[in-house]
Amino acid sequence: MKTLLALALSLICGVSAASATQWPGGAKAAVVLTYDDALDSQLDHAVPVLDEAGFKGTFFLTGLKLAAIPRWRAVGAGGHELANHTLFHPCPASKFSTEPRYTSEAYTPAAMLREIEQQNVLLTALDGKPTHGFASPCGQTLAGGVDYIETLRAANLVTYARGVYTSPDDLRADVGRMDPMHIPSRGFDEAVTGAQLIAFAKEAQTGGGMAVYLFHGVGGDYLQVSDPAHRELVAWLAAHRDEVWVTTLQGALDWAKAHPDAKH
Ligand SMILES: [Zn+2]
Repeated sequence: MKTLLALALSLICGVSAASATQWPGGAKAAVVLTYDDALDSQLDHAVPVLDEAGFKGTFFLTGLKLAAIPRWRAVGAGGHELANHTLFHPCPASKFSTEPRYTSEAYTPAAMLREIEQQNVLLTALDGKPTHGFASPCGQTLAGGVDYIETLRAANLVTYARGVYTSPDDLRADVGRMDPMHIPSRGFDEAVTGAQLIAFAKEAQTGGGMAVYLFHGVGGDYLQVSDPAHRELVAWLAAHRDEVWVTTLQGALDWAKAHPDAKH
């Protein structure tokens, strides 16, 4: 009976069980800007632009340089999210050359979790927060050929794991019901234009879910988006702040969990 009633209601509303999350202030979608690898170009070009717009980003830190510690501490104090990207960024040997013992083939799930735990300690020393989110190096979760994501979930070491964007369906998902250990994100080619970056936010705006951007270098370093393209995106988001809610990844997930879909 309950099921029939739910079905009837969903037909009346024309909204399926997978309907989108209700975002704050009537925003149609959430937009999350994430930046990987603790790059200086992010400190130089991304943080100031976000601060100027009053936006908070999510920074997945790894391989921190001693000289940059005061700057990252200030980024955390400024309300941006500092998150876990391991200490040594272990990736498959095929991705890029590194000391063999730091390739993901040389790890075990237990060693990977130990490393993630130590990066958490470092992050807490930086921002004072007890828990942190996580993004796996190179977007893959194998350690010695064994997927460690379920071990990581069971260990309760991280609040979420950022995964990979697969299709526009990801932009329509009910974020409150998403698996926190598989949060989709989308990377872009180096030649990406501001308009192409904006198009992703517009898709989210239509879909009603969440668009998670994945950046590396901003106007420098590697896998970079140009400074003008990044600025163009942030300017568009600033001009549309009533329609899209720009927040950290933890902020979006916390909101979605606390405000289950109310559209029925
Ligand atoms: Zn990385």
